[in-house]
Amino acid sequence: MLAIEVKNIAKNYSSEKSGKFIGLGKPFSDNDTRVDSDTGIEGISFEVKKGEIFGIIGPDGAGKTTLFRILTTLLLPDQGSARVNGFDVVSEYKSIRNCVGYMPGRFSLYQDLTVEENLNFFATVFNTTIEENYELIKDIYQQIEPFKNRRAGKLSGGMKQKLALSCALIHKPDVLFLDEPTTGVDPVSRKEFWGMLKKLKDQGITILVSTPYMDEASLCDRIALIQNGQFLKIDTPKDIISQYKNKLWAVKSDTMYKLLNDLRANELTKNCFAFGDKHHVSMDNDKLTMDKLREELGTLGHKNLDIREIEPTIEDCFMQLSQV
Ligand code: ADP
Repeated sequence: MLAIEVKNIAKNYSSEKSGKFIGLGKPFSDNDTRVDSDTGIEGISFEVKKGEIFGIIGPDGAGKTTLFRILTTLLLPDQGSARVNGFDVVSEYKSIRNCVGYMPGRFSLYQDLTVEENLNFFATVFNTTIEENYELIKDIYQQIEPFKNRRAGKLSGGMKQKLALSCALIHKPDVLFLDEPTTGVDPVSRKEFWGMLKKLKDQGITILVSTPYMDEASLCDRIALIQNGQFLKIDTPKDIISQYKNKLWAVKSDTMYKLLNDLRANELTKNCFAFGDKHHVSMDNDKLTMDKLREELGTLGHKNLDIREIEPTIEDCFMQLSQV
């Protein structure tokens, strides 16, 4: 049996202005600053196998949260069907709520309750106790246990994240939904967090995780790249990279802004983006060699040119796919 099975799911918010949500109250706070577009997701299909870490990778507003809310039964789709752990997200939503853990993008815990009170609360809601499932959360919870009497609102970003994960796990879910769990968390805690996910996977938990950080894609078994409510590609990170068309060059000169414009103006350029302190460019390699490009840019006045071929990253693949 598949852990998640999604067929042609779509959600448009134009019919949803007043917020027709199942169960838990209002979807977003009043001071939410999201781009005003009505398209949530458009006809998405995919499957996640049991025990997989599946990443939904895409920028803000791409539709990640909309998808997570549908799969965790907090939002009704307009079209299509989806099953989680074999249950239908609409007709069998209660069964799904018992067997999934959900860590929403925003910190969702009670700020005024202590660490321990929050965890106890979630355990009680699911009719269990901290002791009963301590083994599963032990590695994660032990790191915040010294602060168990501290109010959740007073925790650091990384500690909040660990508490939220402990709460999402306290009822031993089969499928874990993590919506941007590492956003706003420092790089060390991000790395540590992914280490924890691998351990949960080893215990047989299926994980659907979204992130805007492209470098986290390589830590997933498979990923879907999402933009404007649509999937651009679903595959393993390695295979997505191996399917990158054209060679990729990293280019530098003394005048980086002019360089970007000059590269983009070249009719043989397929795509070109600023990437850290370099520009990443892919060109029509049948018609342009690296030496020829160096010569052309030199003629345009660029000094201290540095051009070298590099391996594409997931971000490069995303850029290329989103150009089509
Ligand atoms: P992400 O999680 O990738 O940032 P979202 O699923 O939150 O993306 O948003 C996808 C699109 O749907 C965005 O254009 C957003 O503005 C729109 N959207 C999300 N929630 C609502 C809502 N409650 N009402 C209207 N539009 C919404």
